[in-house]
This record gives sequence, structure tokens and C-alpha cells, in this order.
Amino acid sequence: MNYLFDPAPVIAIPVEGGAGFPVNRIFCVGQNYADHIREMGGTDTSVEPVLFMKPASALTSGPDVPFPPVTTDLHHEVEMVAALGPDGVIAAGVGIDLTRRDLQAMAKKRGGPWEIGKAFDNGAVIGPLRPGPPPASGAIRLSVNGTVRQDGDLNQMNRSLPELLALIGKYFTLQSGDLVFTGTPSGVGPLLPGDTVEATIEGLPPLTFRMTDRKA
Ligand code: MN
Repeated sequence: MNYLFDPAPVIAIPVEGGAGFPVNRIFCVGQNYADHIREMGGTDTSVEPVLFMKPASALTSGPDVPFPPVTTDLHHEVEMVAALGPDGVIAAGVGIDLTRRDLQAMAKKRGGPWEIGKAFDNGAVIGPLRPGPPPASGAIRLSVNGTVRQDGDLNQMNRSLPELLALIGKYFTLQSGDLVFTGTPSGVGPLLPGDTVEATIEGLPPLTFRMTDRKA
């Protein structure tokens, strides 16, 4: 077919061993750790997780991540990310669900969608994927400029990865190339231009990046 203009290239993220993982969609799970639900002001700490999406074009692997426009309250959320192939989950990695918390709060107040708070350019930071089954337990941590901010364990998830896939599968048909951000433990907080972020999950490749200045 002749296109009106050149189509966008396939978006792919690195996998240990050299191959790339071609990304289809990014599903994100919110409110999946009780202590994070509590810190956000929630009282029902086992509420069904909220589901939202980011475009594949929001992905970045750093090492420099542009500070996004409009917000004055950009938050980090470290999350395990599961990667789906033709026969289910084939790899996992460390991800950061960057959140313009001020804009998300405005959207929540209006009862509107979260895109302006969640789905912005460079709002999904991801480290290299490790092939194989994702860990079901182990430390999940994030530090900013060497200070630990988030320090949880994957076994604190309200819904396990298989349960999350079943939940998403009720509403959507999961496909090869889909990524699933599985929610964040407590300790979310603000990032500033120049901050260095280190995120680790036991059993997965670590992720380090630096927030740069706002794009001109
Ligand atoms: Mn999140």
C-alpha cells in the first residue's frame, strides 16, 4: 500500500542477549500494593486494581530522560514490567511509570481519564528485559541521588502477575508485544531536573537514568 507519509518505525526495547522486543501496547496497573494505596489516601487496600494505558511511543530507556512539560509535581513509580510473546509472558524488566501527579490529581477530581497525567512522551522508562519467567517475589527498590525512596517486595502485590493478566484479559485481548506495568509499592515522590534515578528488582537487570532539563 502507498502511505500518505512514511509510517513510524517499530518501537523496540532491548533484551539481554541482543534481540529487541517489538512493543505493541503498554497496559498499566494502578493500586496493586496496599501500602501505596494507603499513601495515596485510599482506605480499601484490596480494591480491584485500576487499568490504564500508555502509548508505546512513551517508552524510553534513558540514560537521559527529558523532564516533561506542564507539571510541577513529577513522581517516580518503580514497577515490574512483564513482556508478552505469542505464548504468554516471555520476559520481564524494571520500569518506571513516570506520573505528572498534579495533572493526574486534576483528572481524578473531574472524574476524567488520566492520559495527561500518565501517557506523556518519555513517561514510561524501561530497562533491558530478561528472558524467562518473571520473579514472583524479591526486593523492588528505587533510589534518587543515592537515597532510597521505594523499598518493597514483589510478594506484596495485591494481585499476582497471573491474576493481573486474567483481569486485563477480561477487558482486552492480550497480544504479542504487549507490556504490563504491574503497579508500584509505597514511597512514590517527586523528581527534579538533574536527579539520578536507580531502580532495581531482584533477579532483573537494573535501570539507571538521569532526569534532564525540560525540553525547550
Ligand atoms: Mn503506576
